[in-house]
Amino acid sequence: MPNYRFLGNSGLKISEITYGNWLTHGSQVENDVATQCVHAALDAGITTFDTADVYANTKAEQVLGDALKGQRRESLEIFTKVYWPTGPGGANDSGLSRKHVMESIDGSLKRLGTDYVDLYQAHRFDQSTPLEETMQAFADIVRQGKALYIGVSEWTADQIRAGHALSKELGFQLISSQPQYSMLWRVIEDEVVPTSRELGLSQIVWSPVAQGVLSGKYLPGQPAPAGSRATDANGSRFIQQFMTEDVLTRVQQLKAVADELGLTQAQLAVAWVLQNDNVAAALIGASRPEQVAENVKASGVVIPAELLAKIDEILGDVVER
Ligand code: NDP
Repeated sequence: MPNYRFLGNSGLKISEITYGNWLTHGSQVENDVATQCVHAALDAGITTFDTADVYANTKAEQVLGDALKGQRRESLEIFTKVYWPTGPGGANDSGLSRKHVMESIDGSLKRLGTDYVDLYQAHRFDQSTPLEETMQAFADIVRQGKALYIGVSEWTADQIRAGHALSKELGFQLISSQPQYSMLWRVIEDEVVPTSRELGLSQIVWSPVAQGVLSGKYLPGQPAPAGSRATDANGSRFIQQFMTEDVLTRVQQLKAVADELGLTQAQLAVAWVLQNDNVAAALIGASRPEQVAENVKASGVVIPAELLAKIDEILGDVVER
């Protein structure tokens, strides 16, 4: 069973291993496998699920909603997001205008088969809509009970600070930020994390296994294993940033660290992001149920300082900071 952590300075507790369905549900994997992954997550004690309207152009929300049917709603924390266009793409079908936000939440709730989401997240910052307009729309959604809490994703520290100030004026509070974070991608450490700590937000971090790369299954100079994200027609373009000879060679050297802790490399990667106390959850993906069962065991693992230093030494300058 994963441990729980509070999301920001709210009273909401979420499972520190959270399951997300980007690139998998409604796309890479068939619906029955998607359902098996969701049930593997539930069996392992994961109660927090993350999706977005844009994943598989709305299909991912539908598949997740179907897979969660029959579960006790109060025992789940369901998160989704708004920003990118879904459907045919009319002039107002993207961004964070009041029109798009108010219309999107209703579509998401319908597909997820629920009256409310626990967390509604701005998937990106919208430079072309006044922040006041977006925050007022979020305040109204909270007041209507369609979302219980509001978060953001991939916002800079300054954007978080501005959004947080407005949210407080409007009677609610941003409580989370959802950035990319892994041993290979540490961009948030200098600004987003200190600002979030100061303001009472925590991080729900995506791609903690670097999309599978940190599991160690991609060997330098060898073809990617069949059925992996690197071979998926849609997903392969996202993983390319990590598929260099240098990265893959260094990742193989992390096996010695994982072995010392009795972990698999994927478990080491998930445990690593959870060593940061501003991280509320490692947001894992999975294309098969066994991966969920394996990765959830990272909850509660403590990585000693000397092994954290060893990881830094092995990865050296391939880490994005
Ligand atoms: P991960 O880094 O956890 O990668 C998941 C993928 O890695 C799996 O689908 C699987 O792919 C492979 N994998 C995972 N565990 C193992 C294992 N033990 N052994 C071998 N392979 C493994 O996260 P994702 O990149 O999937 O992102 C997770 C979630 O984060 C998303 O579902 C979404 O909710 C969120 N997200 C948010 C974004 C945002 O902008 N806010 C952007 C991207 C993601 P395979 O088997 O196909 O190789």
